[in-house]
Amino acid sequence: MPAPATVTDTIASISTPPGRGGIGIVRLSGPQAASIAVQLVRLRHPPGHLDQIDHARARLADVLDASDDDPARDEATSIDEALVTFFAAPHSYTAEDLVEISAHGSPVVLELLLRRALALGARLAEPGEFTQRAFLSGRLDLTQAEAVRDLIDAQTLTQARQAASQMGGALSHRVAPVKQSLVELVALLEAGIDFAEDDLEVTPQQEISRRIAELTPPLAALEASFARGRIVHDGLTLAIVGRPNVGKSSLFNRLVERDRAIVTATPGTTRDLVTERISIGGIPIELVDTAGLREAPSRSLNGPLSDSPDGILDEVEQLGIHRSREALADAALVLIVLDATQPLNDEEHRLLAAVVGRPALVAVNKSDLVEWARSENLGAPGPSHLGTGECINLDAPVLDFKTRESSAAGPTGSQAPAERSLPPVVSTSALTGEGIAALREKILALATGGAAAEPGMLTNLRQHQAVATALAALADAATANAAAIPHEMILLDLYRALWALDSLTGQTTPDDILNLIFSTFCIGK
Ligand code: GDP
Repeated sequence: MPAPATVTDTIASISTPPGRGGIGIVRLSGPQAASIAVQLVRLRHPPGHLDQIDHARARLADVLDASDDDPARDEATSIDEALVTFFAAPHSYTAEDLVEISAHGSPVVLELLLRRALALGARLAEPGEFTQRAFLSGRLDLTQAEAVRDLIDAQTLTQARQAASQMGGALSHRVAPVKQSLVELVALLEAGIDFAEDDLEVTPQQEISRRIAELTPPLAALEASFARGRIVHDGLTLAIVGRPNVGKSSLFNRLVERDRAIVTATPGTTRDLVTERISIGGIPIELVDTAGLREAPSRSLNGPLSDSPDGILDEVEQLGIHRSREALADAALVLIVLDATQPLNDEEHRLLAAVVGRPALVAVNKSDLVEWARSENLGAPGPSHLGTGECINLDAPVLDFKTRESSAAGPTGSQAPAERSLPPVVSTSALTGEGIAALREKILALATGGAAAEPGMLTNLRQHQAVATALAALADAATANAAAIPHEMILLDLYRALWALDSLTGQTTPDDILNLIFSTFCIGK
């Protein structure tokens, strides 16, 4: 824990969001919080000073009008009524004296309160400064302070729960035992060096190696938790791609659960990217509906405007396709939509080849038409390709690309997607809703990569970096120990690991190590 910083100034801010609301809160923290607050309000029933009221008990008060700040304050006009709560140090959010004035959420009243607080000696708080003070006083460690920000920014309940558990110290609790063992190892080696003349036994090489080996698995598990923690925290993007008219916008609307994208039977209507954020299993996913990918037979991107006769794409559609390809390249996940009633075309072969090795899945859409055509014995008017060798076989869970590649060699020639890298396939009907639940499940599995949710996950790059650094330093220490390098040198690696963990749970001071040496090893008697 950092040594409590001596804070001499008192900070103030409006803690509720800008604008009008039912209530609005002005918060003051620091040594003068109470003495400033008593000049802003007049407590009722019975009147009194803030520092004489109970800790953490809300009191009704009048908010005093600024024009009345004269000595005869009892006569001053009230401009609002408020609930005032005083939290005595160190039992407050910041661990300092803290006052919250909950008035009505009128920006005019709140600004008056803040202006008067500043005139009476408070300083305008910087963004996040209340939490910074909580950290500086040692009430929160850095992971908990980060969790406060994450909780406020949370967009899904899962994100909020994750942040709340980190705020409660879940990550710190996971790191703490590893760090404790590391400090013990450091103390052991330090003692061996500093008190060699006290006949202290030098720690054997195997013992050091055993202790380092014990530290690694929990840290490696923690590092691995970043795979899930990161996506819970940041979410990811899923691009819906495919040729025109396969039902991309319809699937997009199904996933968004409202008619967000335009759906028409005319190919090429989605010209620009349409995006919407959804939550699947609590993971925020940015869906991107793209323009249908199709070849522009005679125009380049920079070509002249076209009147868009059949088969020739106009400039807007070409630009849309260009953006779609960018979206496809940028997205973390790709959903390729195929039409169950149509043979794969060159563009789709190319698309499938392009996602090999990337997290992708295939929705074979319009399954209802297949069912319908089946029930009509394929002879009825409808999808004419159905039943040919080229159609999607819905009875087979995975598309038989190999057959297709050999029968209609795709534009990528011999680079057919290898069977092992075929994306998972789900049969859907955006029209009836069939397969949409399965599609969501598959998207979730793809997003999480199968990593399960667990308490105390790493959620940001800084935390991940810290654990990765600690692991690397421990590996170096193990190598040095195996090579019988002097303990002074091994200690340098161990300290590197310790400092990295310190950045998660707070600083280890020389005293922490010395105390351990003296308490555990009884040196000096
Ligand atoms: P996009 O161009 O790929 O975005 O396709 P749209 O979502 O605009 O759909 C093109 C046409 O196919 C529209 O007339 C939709 O109503 C229709 N459609 C989309 N999905 C399905 C489906 O699952 N079944 C059937 N029967 N029609 C669909």
